Amino acid sequence: MSRRILHIDMDAFFASVETALNPVLRGKPLIVGGSADDARSVVSSASYEARRYGVRSAMPIAQARRLCPEGIFIPCSHGVYGEVSRRIEAILETVTPCIQMASIDEANLDITGSIHLFNNEAALAAHLKKRIEEREHITATVGIAANKMVAKIAANICKPDGYLSIDNGMERAFLAPLSVGVLPGVGPNTRESLEGMGIMMVRQVLETPEPMLANLMGSHGARCLKDAAMGMGSDIIETRQKPKSISRETTFSTDELDWAKIEPVLFRLTEQCAYSLRSEGLETGRVTLKVRYSDFQTKTFTFSLPEPSGLDSALLRALRELIPKGKARRARVRLIGVNLSALSYSQHQMELFDREREEKWERTMRSVDAVRDKLGFGSVGLGSALCTNGNDMRSGRRKKGTDCGK
Ligand SMILES: [Mg+2]
Repeated sequence: MSRRILHIDMDAFFASVETALNPVLRGKPLIVGGSADDARSVVSSASYEARRYGVRSAMPIAQARRLCPEGIFIPCSHGVYGEVSRRIEAILETVTPCIQMASIDEANLDITGSIHLFNNEAALAAHLKKRIEEREHITATVGIAANKMVAKIAANICKPDGYLSIDNGMERAFLAPLSVGVLPGVGPNTRESLEGMGIMMVRQVLETPEPMLANLMGSHGARCLKDAAMGMGSDIIETRQKPKSISRETTFSTDELDWAKIEPVLFRLTEQCAYSLRSEGLETGRVTLKVRYSDFQTKTFTFSLPEPSGLDSALLRALRELIPKGKARRARVRLIGVNLSALSYSQHQMELFDREREEKWERTMRSVDAVRDKLGFGSVGLGSALCTNGNDMRSGRRKKGTDCGK
């Protein structure tokens, strides 16, 4: 049965929320991000007025100041955006329970069974946009298509305050004349390489032999790109409840005193947590290390991340802060565990210190995750956890009781 998926995306979300809170800002070049005097902070969100000056998300604040000296710069207030996001989710739920929040300001809805309530899907989209504007004083853009990917691309190309519907069966024709940059997984670097091969438009991806693309992005990447160019995507809305926390722990078969042996196990558990986190489309704000010593005393040590993240690299950095605390007590260790909490939906608008590097990491982790989905978690181990031989840790399979049970 063919489905209709609605993708909704708030326009310049953080900047729009700030404007709704303080209407004096309306119509002004507004830039939200970091703290003004931190040279490393970047733009999280820019109003469309600021974008006219060339200001973009993830650009260093200093550069934004040069481009737009008369801009109004304000720091992020993340708690507020989360609250607005939850209220918007409640508005979306009035149309269908079949909702998947894709990030703090984006959602996919399966509206197949709801269209008749509004006569047609254009009226349904207009209803949602109007409700959000009335209640939250911000605008949203809607794309509707047969699957999530095409619906999102439709929304992306008609922002802000837009609406675009692609009939089922028209995906390929719709995508063909668009720039390759619209396809998921094609960031600035990949786009540049594709353009270097003369591939400017989606149509040309279809005309290029797959092995040629594979040279550039690997066979998995090439396959994904071809599928995307054909307009193939998932229409499955995962309505699962967001978990409160994600954790993994393990008990050693004999109590362990040597942290050189404990640490790799801990890194491995962290990678497992991070994998689950990403599979749920989540990021974490808090990493907790749990240590149970041989006398059964249990201690927890917590580190709050400067920004929510789903990347192994950020979680391992947090762990490096926590390990010395666990080590401080010179006692044998019976059990160790990692817990990720303060979970939020992945926020691509977040500040990224080194955008390029993080992008590369994200891509790497996505392909690592794809391999793990197929072959199991243990099929890929990252450097930090490679030396987990000896004590109890096996592959990622969770076992009841002693091994890495939850
Ligand atoms: Mg948005």
